[in-house]
Amino acid sequence: MTEDRKYGAIIIGGGHNGLVCAAFLARAGQSVLVVEAADQLGGAARNAEIAPGYTAPACAHILHLLHPRVRSKLKLRRHGLKLAARRLPTVALDPDGNHLTLGGGRIAGTVPEEDARSWRRLHKRLLRMAGALHPFLGRIPPRLGGESWQDRLTLARLGLSLRMLGKAEMRDFLRIVNMNAADLLDDELSDDRLKGALAFDAVLGTNFGPRSPGSVLTWLYRLAGEAKGGRSGLALPAGGMGAVTDALAASALDLGVDIRTGTPVRRIVVEDDRAAAVELESGNVLRTRAVVSSADPKTTFLDLVGPEHLDTGFLRRVRSIRTNGLAAKLNLALDELPDFPGLDRAALGGRLVIAPDIGYVERAFDHSKYGEYSAEPAIEITIPTVHDASLAPGGGHVLSAVVQYAPRDLKGGWEAHRDAFADHAVAAIARYAPGLAGRIVGRQLLTPADIERDFRIAGGHWHHGDLAVDQMLMLRPVPGWAQYGTPVAGLYLCGAGAHPGGGVMGAAGMNAAQRILAARKAGNAA
Ligand SMILES: Cc1cc2nc3c(=O)[nH]c(=O)nc-3n(C[C@H](O)[C@H](O)[C@H](O)COP(=O)(O)OP(=O)(O)OC[C@H]3O[C@@H](n4cnc5c(N)ncnc54)[C@H](O)[C@@H]3O)c2cc1C
Repeated sequence: MTEDRKYGAIIIGGGHNGLVCAAFLARAGQSVLVVEAADQLGGAARNAEIAPGYTAPACAHILHLLHPRVRSKLKLRRHGLKLAARRLPTVALDPDGNHLTLGGGRIAGTVPEEDARSWRRLHKRLLRMAGALHPFLGRIPPRLGGESWQDRLTLARLGLSLRMLGKAEMRDFLRIVNMNAADLLDDELSDDRLKGALAFDAVLGTNFGPRSPGSVLTWLYRLAGEAKGGRSGLALPAGGMGAVTDALAASALDLGVDIRTGTPVRRIVVEDDRAAAVELESGNVLRTRAVVSSADPKTTFLDLVGPEHLDTGFLRRVRSIRTNGLAAKLNLALDELPDFPGLDRAALGGRLVIAPDIGYVERAFDHSKYGEYSAEPAIEITIPTVHDASLAPGGGHVLSAVVQYAPRDLKGGWEAHRDAFADHAVAAIARYAPGLAGRIVGRQLLTPADIERDFRIAGGHWHHGDLAVDQMLMLRPVPGWAQYGTPVAGLYLCGAGAHPGGGVMGAAGMNAAQRILAARKAGNAA
């Protein structure tokens, strides 16, 4: 059945980017419908009940990248977004209990004075470089060789922003941007705990180890998201990551967006080479002027559009996007706050990192190259209930952990190994919190294969596709199509698979809306 109402735009997926895109389009007067397959909005940025009364962040747990324009233009505070904690310190856990606490370039704990000074300097330097990249995140990437004044302006702005670094620092930027994080850290610092924790920052959510070329670039890119938008630093939303989604949905609804959950799209209907409608799993067809997909590029083009509508060159590029997810999520429901010797309650409210030295992280990565999970995984932990007791009943706590590396295509398959891997991850944490196992009343492990199935993300990948030199900026998702439009007229991308990639940033959704509105103004479809 074809439904009567024709929308100006239909957004596939009510993850945070889909909601951002919908809200910006509605703000500009467009009629917009969001259709989300799951019963809950938020995609990878939603909450999950992991045991009766225990609310955990399903995947994403730290808010540190949200674009300032998304926050302000969509009035997220007015729509209920509050932070339970901001500027979380990072605690580099040490097996002997000599933990280090890092925050804003400062270090608490015993490190050589020379390292403390060097890290302060390096931190400032990296932030300045990341700051130069920041303006690029909230803009439509220019076409390489593009003739329009907008393409030229964006390139000129990027050039200017790098020039503003000054001659010496620009040279330094060009030198380090191709380095691997391990070499840079070894050049500048000596303390293993410090270097381990920083090396993990460089590779979190990526398909890299600290010795992989390009890992400094991904680190800078991550810092770029934090650099300007990040007055709150690493933050935990009150009510969990799902509260960000709730605020975005409230903003979108207030702007007149229609939202349907539990509504999977079966296919994008292409007529005369143009996206004309979406067909739902229910069989209903919804006609529209534009289809905007926040599903990852492989899902969008290979499953929803279908190869018959795409030329072979484009198809080959889409098929080549690397989407092997390596980050698993472990959520634990605990009856009490775990005891980490050497850390008090306030410290447990920080971001705890298990990456005691660079070699540890690199060895963890090595396993993934051969389709194995890490024997000793690198782990990022938050305990949101230290700041927000509403997330667990009666004095209980939630421990949320990103565990690397767990390849999507595990040798022998995840069904045979999932419990062993979860035991393994718990044991790795229990090394620093000896009584942990006895406090667990519920446990949920999401491997990349689970994330692929439950969140409809190809490969279960954090960024919907690797962030690497050949898959970022003007080359994302594929060369020639980095401006959110696609070879199918009237079809756009607005999710993490497009520039600037993943993380709860909202920039892809915001930039895509700007692109669609510009096309409307110019009176063209693609
Ligand atoms: C384990 C893990 C930990 C992470 N931790 C952090 C973190 O701490 N901080 C951070 O900033 N980022 C983190 N990230 C990354 C971040 O969660 C994602 O990059 C981001 O949420 C992607 O948002 P999105 O809106 O682009 O896509 P998604 O969140 O993937 O949303 C896309 C939506 O589209 C829907 N959809 C797909 N196909 C269809 C269809 N056919 N019909 C209807 N709907 C459909 C999906 O159900 C989904 O809801 C993490 C990611 C992972 C995997």
